[in-house]
Amino acid sequence: MSDCLFCQIIKDTIPAKKLYEDDEILAFYDVSPQAPTHFLVIPKEHISTLNDTQNKELIGKLSIVASKIATNLGFAKKGFRVVMNCNEDGGQTVYHIHLHCLAGRQLTWPPG
Ligand code: 5GP
Ligand code: ZN
Repeated sequence: MSDCLFCQIIKDTIPAKKLYEDDEILAFYDVSPQAPTHFLVIPKEHISTLNDTQNKELIGKLSIVASKIATNLGFAKKGFRVVMNCNEDGGQTVYHIHLHCLAGRQLTWPPG
């Protein structure tokens, strides 16, 4: 396993406010929220960017987990946004893929 930041969160070396965990996936609140609710859904497998996987099932599961958490937290009907940043122009800063899930305010489009 890589010693990247999110791998360390998976290993509990770095603490995080966890929301969901199973064999393949972990979800936790973003430390610097960009909306009233902002959490990240990540695979436990270290994958650097969206360009580095063909695993359709795993990529799909990230979205399903985000939607289930949205339902459990009560904002699924009101709405939310999921986004995955990829590489420099996409604004990726942590090179372990993660789906952002943002909710709790009217989100603007297009994003900056
Ligand atoms: P990216 O810019 O790569 O799409 O998103 C990385 C996200 O990880 C950012 O929203 C940032 O706030 C979040 N982040 C960075 N370091 C930590 C940390 O140590 N803990 C948590 N929970 N989130 C982090
Ligand atoms: Zn990692």
